[in-house]
Amino acid sequence: MKLVLIGAPAAGKGTQARKLIAKYGLAYISTGDMLREEVAKGSELGLKVKDIMSSGSLVSDDLIIAIVKERIKADDCKRGFILDGFPRTVVQAEKLDELIGSIDKAIYINCPDEVLLERITARETCPKCGASYNRISVPSKVPGICDVCGEHLTQRKDDTVEAGKARLATFHEQSEPLVAYYKKQGNLFEVDGMSGVENVTNAIFAELGD
Ligand SMILES: [Zn+2]
Repeated sequence: MKLVLIGAPAAGKGTQARKLIAKYGLAYISTGDMLREEVAKGSELGLKVKDIMSSGSLVSDDLIIAIVKERIKADDCKRGFILDGFPRTVVQAEKLDELIGSIDKAIYINCPDEVLLERITARETCPKCGASYNRISVPSKVPGICDVCGEHLTQRKDDTVEAGKARLATFHEQSEPLVAYYKKQGNLFEVDGMSGVENVTNAIFAELGD
């Protein structure tokens, strides 16, 4: 099963991906995570990516495609995979189709911007132990204090209102054409991200079957 997960930041993609992996035994492929790992490892690819990103440019489609092409050869992809963060544009989606034939389903978790913005700005992380919280959905027991280690919680730089708005604008600009692309292909499954985590999961499972 070859799936693509589409959703704005804080739409709940990570949560749903974990459930899909557990049920269908799929590999989880986040191109963002992979690039960050390569940069951290200081590999040849990582150095290349670091140069590109520090110059303020985006990593090219061809480079991303090459990374995905290698990744899906791995053993854990035999039963299928979920792509998260890729394809990000219609051009990338076309290149992906060239590479693997066609995907089975693009799952779009749709949420209104104001809800997403509220979720994004409510995120808190612990700078000491890395635990993450959300003042709305997963609050710490004592506000602003880590449950695990007692450290004061902080906010990621890109989880502010301004940065959140910019990320949502980018998402709409790039990914709405992508939604239209998969709809036209007949592979789009849109689910209401406001219906609750469990209902979203059940709707996706019902769509994909056993
Ligand atoms: Zn902590």
